[in-house]
This record gives sequence, C-alpha cells and structure tokens, in this order.
Amino acid sequence: MKNIYIIGVGLIGGSLAIDIKKKNPDVTIHGIDRQEETLDIALSLNLIEKKAILDDVVNADLVILSVPVDATVKLLPTVLDLISDKSLVVDAGSTKEDICKVVENHPKRRNFLAMHPIAGTEHSGPHAAIPELFVGKTNIICEVEKTAFKLQEKALKLFADIGMRIRYMNPQAHDKHIAYMSHLSHISSFMLGKTVINKEKNERDIFDMAGSGFESTVRLAKSSPEMWTPIFEQNKTNVIETLEAYIANLTQFKEFMEKDDFEAIFKEMKDTNYIKDILNVIV
Ligand code: NAP
Repeated sequence: MKNIYIIGVGLIGGSLAIDIKKKNPDVTIHGIDRQEETLDIALSLNLIEKKAILDDVVNADLVILSVPVDATVKLLPTVLDLISDKSLVVDAGSTKEDICKVVENHPKRRNFLAMHPIAGTEHSGPHAAIPELFVGKTNIICEVEKTAFKLQEKALKLFADIGMRIRYMNPQAHDKHIAYMSHLSHISSFMLGKTVINKEKNERDIFDMAGSGFESTVRLAKSSPEMWTPIFEQNKTNVIETLEAYIANLTQFKEFMEKDDFEAIFKEMKDTNYIKDILNVIV
C-alpha cells in the first residue's frame, strides 16, 4: 500500500492517519476536505503529508471516508466511481444502514468495506486527532461478504496493526444496538446539559456545585451538532424507540418519588448497579 487518501481530516480521520502512518511509514497520507483551512491545519499538525482533491482518489490504494454520515451518503458513490478497480474504500460512519444501502447496486460495491470504529471523544476537527485512539477498541464491520476477499484481508491487517478487534454485524443490527449504546447516551447528555443551563439562567451558583459526576455525565453534550444531527436523522426509528423506553423509565422514577416509594427507588438503583458487572466483563 502506497497512497492513502483520507476524506475528512477531523477526529476520526486524523487519528486514523496518525496510527496508520506510524505502523506503515512508507505510505503517503493525503488529505481531502471541504475547507482548505482544515487541510492546512491537518498539514501543520503532521496528520497528512499532502493536500489533495476528490479527483485524486484515482491514485489511491485506500480511501478512508470520515465525514458526517449525510456527507458520506452523498460522497461514497462518487468516490467509488472515481477509484481504480484495485483500491479499497472504507467509511467510518456511526450509522450503517443508509450508507450500505446507497451503494448496494454500485458496480464497485466489492471495493467498499463498511466499518464503525467504536472509539472517539467529544471533540472534533483536526486538533482533536490523537494517537492510539483505536488501541483495544472494537471495529464493527458490516456486510463483510460484499467486499472482495483480498481487500477484506488488506483492511483487517490494517485494523489489527492499529490495535483494533473486529466484530461483524449486519447494518440493521448495528444501527439498532448503537442507538441504545451510543445515540441515547448523547441525547441524554445533551438534554441534561440543557436542563441545567436553563436552570442556571436563574441560579448562577448551580455551577459552583457542579462536581465530577455532573461533568462526566454531561461530557457528551460538548459533541458536534453537525456530526450528530445526521446520525439521529438516519437512525430516527431506532432512536425514537430508545427514547420511548428511556422516557418511560424516567416517568416511572418520578412517579416513585411522588408516591414517596423510596423502597422502589432503592430497588431501581440496586438493580441497575448490575451495569458494573456488565461493563467490567466487557473491559
Ligand atoms: P469531525 O472531527 O467533525 O471531522 C469531520 C471532518 O469532515 C472535518 O474535517 C470536516 O471538515 C469534514 N467534512 C465535513 N463535511 C464534509 C464534506 N461534505 N466533504 C468533505 N469533508 C467534510 O468528525 P469525526 O468525529 O471525525 O467524525 C467523522 C465520522 O466518523 C462521522 O461519520 C462519524 O459518524 C464517525 N465516527 C465518529 C466518532 C466520534 O466519537 N466522534 C466515533 C466513531 C465514528 P470541516 O473542517 O470543513 O468541517
């Protein structure tokens, strides 16, 4: 592999660039982005070695598409139109159903691998890119059987080299599970932040009382709306399902409070402490 083109040199694209270059010093990392300024920053941070434009992907051995999921749906068919028959395109999008669907009948479908690296932070843009973001993290791969075997092998080696473990899933299952495991947490954090900000307008002191519990729970509310709005749009049905379940639990908790049923409140929390066992097993 000689030439890797990263479209979208933000948190995920930039972090992949750092680790891939470290493990493959002979490859040249090219960056493509909609804003020249973003590319200049990526260049100055040594995330990329050369600036490129979309038409240049004809020279790519590998293209990594790491832009918001609405832009991915628009760009992916064009990228596949442009690449050579031997090159591989992967996307990093947080939704998988719409992305897989848009290229299901593309003549170069076998050159595409759909992935979702379960790694990230609440920060975005090239300054957010960090080394070793993917070490020990899971990379979910969808519809692997639709990718040419030789290209699958190439991709799997690349992901293994940067420390990722692989899980296979179909796009529908991915979008359903990720709605619970990631999308709901972000909504919950955004709305917690909103609730407290609204209150703070009247009671400025509230932030003096903000401890590490509030800070860690509201961390995800710092995330980029530009990235998250299209995710919620593409995964609307699953996200609404998670919200219904979550709102039902919140309503029940409120009812227990109103009824002074603190035995039930205790039990709710005790039962949910089970999350410690689940997360300890996963880690
Ligand atoms: P990010 O830091 O905001 O980076 C996105 C990059 O894409 C930016 O450089 C942005 O450039 C560029 N971009 C936006 N629209 C574009 C377009 N139409 N054409 C070309 N470039 C465009 O976002 P990210 O967190 O890296 O997310 C990238 C992808 O990874 C998304 O699909 C996301 O769902 C997925 N993902 C994110 C996480 C996470 O935790 N953040 C985890 C796993 C997967 P500008 O400077 O011009 O805005």
